[in-house]
Amino acid sequence: MTTTFAQLGVPSRLADALAAQGITSPFPVQAATIPDGLAGRDVCGKAPTGSGKTFAFGLPILAKVEKAKRGRPRALVLAPTRELAEQIKKELAPLARNVGRHVFAVYGGVGYGGQISAMRKGVDVLVACPGRLEDLIEQGVVDLSDADLVVLDEADRMADMGFMPSVMRLLDQTSPVRQTLLFSATLDGDIAKLSKRYQTDPVRHEAASVETDELDAVHHFWLVDHHDRTRHTADLINEFGKSIVFTRTRRGADRLAKQLEKLGVRAVAMHGGRSQNQRQRALDAFSSGKARALIATDVAARGIHVDEVASVIHFDPAGDHKDYLHRSGRTARAGATGTVVTLVTHEQKRDVLKMQRDIDIDAPLARPDVTSLVDSGHRIGERRPNGPSPRSERSRSDRPNRDVAGKNRASKRQERHDRPVAGSQRVYVANLPWKTTDGDLHSMFSRYGIVEGAAVVTNRKTGRSKGFGFVEMAAKDAGEAIRALNGSSLDGRDLLVKVARPRN
Ligand code: ADP
Ligand code: MG
Repeated sequence: MTTTFAQLGVPSRLADALAAQGITSPFPVQAATIPDGLAGRDVCGKAPTGSGKTFAFGLPILAKVEKAKRGRPRALVLAPTRELAEQIKKELAPLARNVGRHVFAVYGGVGYGGQISAMRKGVDVLVACPGRLEDLIEQGVVDLSDADLVVLDEADRMADMGFMPSVMRLLDQTSPVRQTLLFSATLDGDIAKLSKRYQTDPVRHEAASVETDELDAVHHFWLVDHHDRTRHTADLINEFGKSIVFTRTRRGADRLAKQLEKLGVRAVAMHGGRSQNQRQRALDAFSSGKARALIATDVAARGIHVDEVASVIHFDPAGDHKDYLHRSGRTARAGATGTVVTLVTHEQKRDVLKMQRDIDIDAPLARPDVTSLVDSGHRIGERRPNGPSPRSERSRSDRPNRDVAGKNRASKRQERHDRPVAGSQRVYVANLPWKTTDGDLHSMFSRYGIVEGAAVVTNRKTGRSKGFGFVEMAAKDAGEAIRALNGSSLDGRDLLVKVARPRN
């Protein structure tokens, strides 16, 4: 039985507005935390990126928030970066209109004028980055003492970025009788202290961590020459489409974007050295598909959600396993699958192998080859058949065997496609619009012959399409279908259609 938002207690005016956007069944973190949030409990939630935290805290807030007096918001959402703050506002503002409330975001890097006049008019739900909010309070523009609904989003990142003292000063100014919702990828260290000091009898919800369950991506590591990295990056983007590329430095990001443009790949850079306007323009160009590559540094890309990012490329390897997971979490979000490639130079080999052990990923440093990527690759926690184990025997036996988990995960329909039928061919179709159904796939291919089976692969938990699927048909017809359909456009997306590699 699947629950609905209404069954969780979300008022119909909000649930109906969500349904109008096609959002009808709550994600696990939402199902877990919304009832407690509505009941007024403090919530301490651990959930990976892309799990749907914004609605998890946003819906209870919008259901309960009172109308604010000028300059005195009733609900406060603190977020680490301007992009995140803007994204939360964008997601909640249209819903808020249905309950007659106003959401606004304040952050640094832009002028004060618009923010001051918005606050003077009255903001019910204020989304804010800590630094700018403190500025506005100092200027007498904002007073937090009416804020009795408070959210800390991505609290671990705020701590990493040095915002802890600021966050505490701000919390101290909110209403002492308040409900505090805290969301974070980790709940230890500073975050545990924060929870202890500012929450009252919090209910703790832990969704599975990104590391093992939620990040449904395949990972590759390529051993490359330093001066070939740009070319390999261009090849990857040409193969996959929409990609986010990570560099270590801001200058590196700008340089790579320019070099990619020279190779004919539309690319935009986003990092902390650019103005808010430039960053927003870059993000818009990338979201809309005008640019195929977004080149970003770690901090700039944190929490950014862009739908249908096909691949993440670590142009410079991540600094550690945490950054690796955060970066890689930009793809394979919300039930989509993704491909992650790290470019490794000879000098970086040792560090990367160590990082692999920390991630619990067992992948060879392979020779660059775009054609080998699509349905091969390595999943976190999965062992190569006879390969060396990056983990000790003990911890290996602690975790579920990934091969078995993988089998359970596949639906019955998919399994049927694993079994070869004599004379028939399995065809891999990628870059499908999310709404494509099995029936759509079936009719698309049946123009070229009798289709024995067609299935879009979906995420077991969320039921959402992963953007690729398999079709089984006579080998001779399959060849023709591939020639006709590969590169053709479906709802503005260029399909990738090719012979599926046999599964082993
Ligand atoms: P997080 O903050 O945990 O990283 P978001 O709140 O940004 O994740 O959600 C990720 C994406 O999933 C967003 O595009 C959001 O609109 C979408 N989403 C959230 N909840 C649902 C749902 N119940 N059904 C379908 N899509 C959802
Ligand atoms: Mg979020």
